[in-house]
Amino acid sequence: MALIVQKFGGSSVADAEKVKNVANRVVETARDNNQVVVVVSAQGDTTDDLIEKAQEINPKASKREMDMLLSSGEQISIALLAMAIENLEYPVISLTGWQAGFKTNSSAGNARIDKIDVERIQSELDKHKIVIVAGFQGIDKYDNITTLGRGGSDTSAVALAAALRANKCEIYTDVDGVYTTDPRIVPDAVKLEEITYDEMLELASLGANVLHNRSVEMAKKYNVQLEVKSSFQRVPGTIVKEVIPMEKMLIRGVTRDNDVARIAIIGLEDTPGIAFKVFSALAKDGINVDMILQSIGHDGKKDIVFTVTKSNLDKTIATLESLKETVPYQELSHRDNLSKVSIVGAGMVNNPGVAAKMFEALFDASINIHMIATSELKVSVLINIENAERAVQVIHDKFMK
Ligand code: ADP
Ligand code: ASP
Ligand code: MG
Repeated sequence: MALIVQKFGGSSVADAEKVKNVANRVVETARDNNQVVVVVSAQGDTTDDLIEKAQEINPKASKREMDMLLSSGEQISIALLAMAIENLEYPVISLTGWQAGFKTNSSAGNARIDKIDVERIQSELDKHKIVIVAGFQGIDKYDNITTLGRGGSDTSAVALAAALRANKCEIYTDVDGVYTTDPRIVPDAVKLEEITYDEMLELASLGANVLHNRSVEMAKKYNVQLEVKSSFQRVPGTIVKEVIPMEKMLIRGVTRDNDVARIAIIGLEDTPGIAFKVFSALAKDGINVDMILQSIGHDGKKDIVFTVTKSNLDKTIATLESLKETVPYQELSHRDNLSKVSIVGAGMVNNPGVAAKMFEALFDASINIHMIATSELKVSVLINIENAERAVQVIHDKFMK
């Protein structure tokens, strides 16, 4: 008998018909002589709708109360799915995150799983039940409900698969696998049969929201076999694992991330320790910095330009303004109508010219580049947001055609 963790995303449980479809698939797996633990997300746009409801009442609501509110979406889904499985006369029980033993830290809205006490789930499995667990949520040491960040149900599923030493973890969604780019933007995107954890982690971190990046990090750490597949079509999905045979493909995928803001600190002193002071102040305030560029010095002055997520823009400006006394500069400027477009792939390490090919595609499309960042596995460019979808399309064409 195998133990399988299956996760169904919001679009897979969006209405009654879809919930019944999921129930059928889950019971089928259980009747196939498997133990099944199911993680579900909130139905359809529920999480967005809840955020909107909060905005109407208090746009500055505390993170604690936001988590209390947002966690309710998943609680609806688990109960409905359990009811649909009761209809099929299979023993079933639904559990919220805290009932299922998800212990997290106290970072409301973006909590990390510290551990999962699996006794309750294990005892329900021992009673031959299908166990349905609410994704995206846990409880901190003060008994506050926490959520794991948008898209976090994937991470709940992988963490559970690791804690239960499940034989596999299947992520069911509205596309039938991981593609070379978002198939909703580029219809001729190609489905990947396999992808490595490292490549998938880059794709997910750079905007391919098909998997939550922390779920991939965790799958790699605990060596959980992941498969991304369709809730609706019965076709093989994409396997995410440690190593896969090298193919001729130069890159594995193209992503875009519109959640980016750029800040320029203009006219800093051109002396040692400035970058250290700026970025340690930001780190102290919990602000993650992504791309960084420093200009060459001129007239004893220099500029530093960097990017953060849009939600951190105001906080970043506040931190930099309060730093002005100790680290003087002439002015700050910022903009957030930008997008980061990236190419990802292990193949680029041994192939010179990959970045140039990407830049050529952008040049041919007359798309201007504001910033560039590279690593062994990726090349990212910062461009105007209105060019983002076209950039993804032309870069994808350049490499895949
Ligand atoms: P779920 O609700 O099941 O968690 P998500 O909306 O979070 O689903 O993730 C699935 C979506 O991810 C797809 O509908 C697709 O538009 C998007 N996506 C972005 N990049 C990719 C990619 N490279 N491959 C597949 N899907 C992608
Ligand atoms: N419901 C949450 C969200 O919309 C978690 C998830 O879907 O994974 O972000
Ligand atoms: Mg998702």
